[in-house]
Amino acid sequence: MIDLRSDTVTKPDERMRKAMYEAEVGDDVYGEDPTVNRLERLAAEVLGKESALFVTSGTQGNQIAGLVHCRQGQEVIMESQAHLFLYEAAAMSALAGVQIKTLKGTRGAMNPAEVEAAIRGADIHEPETGLITLENTHNKAGGAVLPLENMREIYEIAGKHHIPVHLDGARLFNAQAATGISVKEYAKYTDTVQFCLSKGLGAPVGSIIAGSDEFIKKARKWRKRLGGGLRQVGVIAAPGIIALENAERLKDDNANAKKLADGLLNIKGVAIDNEVQTNIILMNLSDSGIETTVFLEQLKENGIIAGGFGPGIVRYVTNNGVSEEDIDETLKVVQKIMSV
Ligand SMILES: *Cc1c(COP(=O)(O)O)cnc(C)c1O
Repeated sequence: MIDLRSDTVTKPDERMRKAMYEAEVGDDVYGEDPTVNRLERLAAEVLGKESALFVTSGTQGNQIAGLVHCRQGQEVIMESQAHLFLYEAAAMSALAGVQIKTLKGTRGAMNPAEVEAAIRGADIHEPETGLITLENTHNKAGGAVLPLENMREIYEIAGKHHIPVHLDGARLFNAQAATGISVKEYAKYTDTVQFCLSKGLGAPVGSIIAGSDEFIKKARKWRKRLGGGLRQVGVIAAPGIIALENAERLKDDNANAKKLADGLLNIKGVAIDNEVQTNIILMNLSDSGIETTVFLEQLKENGIIAGGFGPGIVRYVTNNGVSEEDIDETLKVVQKIMSV
C-alpha cells in the first residue's frame, strides 16, 4: 500500500529501533531519564528557547500551552480553520475554561490589523484576551507556510498588549524545509511552540513544547496533572533525537508533494485547491463528476490510500514511507480512474 493519508503513518526505521533498544533510561518524573533530557536540550537549542518538554502528543502540547498561559474566562484568538479549533475536541474550552475567538485568515494567516482589533478586555462586559495562537504550517490551508513577516507583526501587536503567543508548529520543520528559514527564526516570533516528532519527522510517538524556563516549569506540572508524566520514557524519546537530526529529509516530502501536484494538474477533471508549498495536497474533485468516496475506494483497490477532507476534497500527505516511484504510480492510478 502507498499510504498518503497522513505523515502520522510513518514507521520508525532501523536506526530509530536500534536507538530505542539501546536507550539509556531513568524515571523521567524524577527528571532522571538521560535520553529524554538529551532530547529536550536538543529541541530547546534547535528552537532557540530556554527550555523544552517532551509531551505525549501535539494536542497535549497545545493544551498545556493554553493551560499555562490562560485563566478561566479569558478568550483565545486563533485562525478560523486552526487545528486547535477544529480538531482538538474543544479541549481549550473544556480544560482551560476559555472561549475561542476565530478570525478568517488568508492561506492560514490572520490579518494583523484584525488581530489587534479583536483584542479586548478593557470593558467590564468583555472577556480578556489571554492568548493568540498561530499555526505553521497550516494543515487545513493545505500545508501553507505562515510568512515570517506575518508572525512578526502579530507577535509585536501581542507584545504591545502583553498577550502571549503560542505557535502550533506541528509541521514547523516542513516550513523550514520549504523556505530555508530556520525553525529558530520562526520561533523568535512566538513565546511558546509545539511541534510533532511523530509526523513528517518520522518518530513513532511524541511532541515537544518549548518556551522560557518559567513556562516549562509550569508546563511540567500541567503535564503531570494531565497524566502525561511518564517513567522510563527514553525508549520513545530516543527516536525523537534521530528525527530531529534528520529534519533535512522533509525536503524530499515537500518535493514529492510538488511532483504529485504538478502531475495531478495535468489530469482532466482534477483541480488543486492549495498552492503546494510543503507536504500536503488538497485535490478538488467537485467538477469531475466522481464522488470523493468512490474515488477513494478505487484508489484503494489500486493499492493507494488517501483521505477525504471535506466535500469534494481528497487530501494527500507525502511522508517518509512514500518514494518518488510511489508518486509516479499514484499519478498513473489517478489518471486511470479519471479517464473512465
Ligand atoms: C496533528 C496536529 C496536531 C495534533 O497532534 P497530535 O499528536 O495528533 O495530537 C496539532 N496541530 C496540527 C496543525 C496538527 O497537524
